[in-house]
Amino acid sequence: MAGTELAGAPAADTAPTEVKHLIGDQWRSASDGASFESRDPHDGSLLANVARGSAADGEAAIAVARDTFDSGDWSDLSPKQRAVILHRVADAVDAHREELAELETRDGGKTITQSLHAEIPRVAHNFRFFADYVAMAANEAYPDGDLLSYVLYPPAGVVSAISPWNAPLMLATWKIAPALAFGNTVVLKPAPQTPLTAHRFAELALEAGLPPGVLNVVHGFGGDEVAGPLTSDPRVDRITFTGSSVTGVKILQAAAVNHTPVSAEMGGKSANIVFADADLDVAVPKSIRAIFGGNGQVCLSGTRLLVQNSIREEFLERFVAEAAALTVGDPKDPTTFMGPLIEQQHLEKVHGYVELAQEEGGKVLVGGERLRDPARAGGFYYPPTVITGLTNQARAAREEIFGPVETVLGFDTEEEALRIANDSPYGLAGMLFTQNLDRAHRMAAKWRAGTVWINTFFERDLRLPFGGEGISGLGREGGQYSRDFFTEPRAVTLRLGR
Ligand code: NAD
Repeated sequence: MAGTELAGAPAADTAPTEVKHLIGDQWRSASDGASFESRDPHDGSLLANVARGSAADGEAAIAVARDTFDSGDWSDLSPKQRAVILHRVADAVDAHREELAELETRDGGKTITQSLHAEIPRVAHNFRFFADYVAMAANEAYPDGDLLSYVLYPPAGVVSAISPWNAPLMLATWKIAPALAFGNTVVLKPAPQTPLTAHRFAELALEAGLPPGVLNVVHGFGGDEVAGPLTSDPRVDRITFTGSSVTGVKILQAAAVNHTPVSAEMGGKSANIVFADADLDVAVPKSIRAIFGGNGQVCLSGTRLLVQNSIREEFLERFVAEAAALTVGDPKDPTTFMGPLIEQQHLEKVHGYVELAQEEGGKVLVGGERLRDPARAGGFYYPPTVITGLTNQARAAREEIFGPVETVLGFDTEEEALRIANDSPYGLAGMLFTQNLDRAHRMAAKWRAGTVWINTFFERDLRLPFGGEGISGLGREGGQYSRDFFTEPRAVTLRLGR
């Protein structure tokens, strides 16, 4: 492909990739020539020099996305015609699964097992699901005597998609796929820490037949740089954002000037509640995965583990032993459970919270110090860490740490567990382990969280609404909820018989 040397996952000893913006059919360096580096969090090796977009680059991408949308070349296709192309994009992802998985793992430190078997397959599924959903979704029609009313769902227009580093291509395509399927054009800005898979994906999408200008990708940083116009330009019709709650506020403020609708999926501090009647053979390993999976950098993580006091000792003994036994190391090794954290600054933030927890009276049962042995000294490695002795009022139990740090709290009754779970400014998810289904339903109905998992974790049906309450989110995406956001529903009423 023109303008790029990323024709495959480069070996560790090859020259760094040149990652450029994709604007229309052109691969462009930053207009002012600026660039930044993307490095491997496992050993710090340089992976890519990346175009550092300015506001002018963002505006150029929006202009192309606008013209492409207004031309009707994409938006006027029927859902079935768009679905044919989007399925080809999914086919290309499947055909390059190993290459994309390796890129994801090297760029962000996600384990190869997760990249290969969960995240990249989900990228293809995002496209297949929304391609089919749009082609097959039922539409509303209300015949009423000689009045016929129905709803049209024309695309909204130009969509800005702003994504984080913790599940880079999976979350970017969770936005791009529905936006495109409903007939919009897109400007994507991936997180600066993890630009590689978005870049390679854009190449594959063009090769698969996505018309130029339908998907544009710009790289770089927040509000004062390339992301500025993505949130404040009046030619943008929708902003879909996943990232921290702090950034979310800035985006909402910028978008308010033009009344641009925003869908925001943000941080979490979810409770994972284990009752005495839970099957511990299920609850222990699922709880381990709910906090330490994804290197502990998952918005949905069960970061506050609430264990019923009558089984607290038994549960903790098993939980801590399993945490201590997890393999932490090179994410390219298929036997690794946890790779490195994303970057030095983030590692310092995570460790800072562990120190704060100790100042607040917490006791570290396992972990709590950066791993500095020779095999891991070059990377940002932090071990699974379990802390007890805090109350739910401690900052470490209230603020998002976004690392492999579990704070364990006790409770006696169902009411107390629910009160603690809901006592948080966040409201993204909740996990519940019990064999009492009456209790499970009672709690799900009262839990202030966008998603509640019962005796499981992280399983997703893309028809379900996804999002959060409180400072975890604004709006929902998934199935019909994505249609509501990425289209402008229009009521049509027709008087017949004249
Ligand atoms: P972040 O908020 O720092 O950055 C996210 C994206 O926003 C990046 O692309 C960044 O460059 C961009 N950005 C930063 N400032 C901006 C501005 N002023 N205007 C426009 N764009 C701007 O988040 P992060 O550190 O990349 O990701 C981690 C956070 O994401 C955590 O809080 C995590 O909980 C959250 N997250 C939420 C979900 C969810 O579905 N709710 C999923 C994954 C991650």
